Amino acid sequence: ADSAAQSVKRAGGNGFAFFEAHMQADVRDQLDLARELRAALDGEAGAGRLQLHYQPKVDGSSNEIAGVEALLRWQHPLRGPVGPAAVIPVAERFGLIVALGEWVIAEACRQLAAWRSDGLTMRVAINLSVQQLRQPEALLQRFEEALARYRIDARQLTCEITESVAMADAAATEAVLQHLGALGLALSIDDFGTGYSSLAYLRRLPVSQLKIDRSFVQDLETSADARAIVKAVVELAHALSLEVVAEGVETTGQAAVLRGMRCDKLQGYLFGRPMPAEELARWAKDTPAERLRFSASLYGGL
Ligand code: C2E
Ligand code: MG
Ligand code: MG
Ligand code: MG
Repeated sequence: ADSAAQSVKRAGGNGFAFFEAHMQADVRDQLDLARELRAALDGEAGAGRLQLHYQPKVDGSSNEIAGVEALLRWQHPLRGPVGPAAVIPVAERFGLIVALGEWVIAEACRQLAAWRSDGLTMRVAINLSVQQLRQPEALLQRFEEALARYRIDARQLTCEITESVAMADAAATEAVLQHLGALGLALSIDDFGTGYSSLAYLRRLPVSQLKIDRSFVQDLETSADARAIVKAVVELAHALSLEVVAEGVETTGQAAVLRGMRCDKLQGYLFGRPMPAEELARWAKDTPAERLRFSASLYGGL
């Protein structure tokens, strides 16, 4: 194996110059992306469209749609679709994440109101970045404004915060979450199992949901360890009166294992991919719970 350090050494002085040139190209590219994102946030023509796509969460026992998660999408005019894995770090690095997060809050509420006019009552979960939590007054104000403007019941909104973020700055996070909870928003710990939770602290947070990280769900059928971890998390959640969601469910086997463990909600490509708002509305209307059961009987005893 040829490490970057080895190739730098072999190339002598030029190796480092080469490495540095690469770094600069990377930073330059990120800077371009940040400028283009700013333009998109400002609604400039030709900057491409920011969108939220919505992925269903399905009730583990009734198989009814229990709500959706809003996931950021950017249709870039030249780059094509740019996903959050590329956008969010750039937004965080170049000071755009608060503006982007505010757009997400307003857009999710606008969409809830639009669905309501079409007779669809929905719950939406929004992902929050650590930097939004560091400006609690602004964050609370944006939620209050958006809820009032679109006449949305706060109980229709959930905030997802990754475990690593929630546990990083315990005292500060606890204060913000208390305020968000007081507004009526539900709070969920995302990617649970990948961070280092203090259970004492977890118990203090006004959280109502844990989302088990996809990495554990993925291995459910092949790894006894993954099964043990997921089972323990489900039992921990229930012991603390929390609801538990499994993310990234892709196979009927995974769904069966999770249902057997009494996981409350299931989310993943097996049930539905993140989709544009209109498509989600059609999906919710046209998909009978029966079709999301994926039970053995539907598959001839598979
Ligand atoms: P997340 O909140 O854990 O979201 C789950 C990610 O897994 C999403 O990727 C989703 O499309 C993907 N996914 C869902 N089901 C499956 C499945 O069955 N299999 C596989 N392989 N993947 C699945 P996405 O949309 O690329 O988002 C990635 C991450 O970016 C999110 O992870 C979230 O942390 C962040 N993110 C997305 N939208 C926003 C946003 O509006 N604001 C902030 N701050 N972060 C966001
Ligand atoms: Mg999430
Ligand atoms: Mg997640
Ligand atoms: Mg995840």
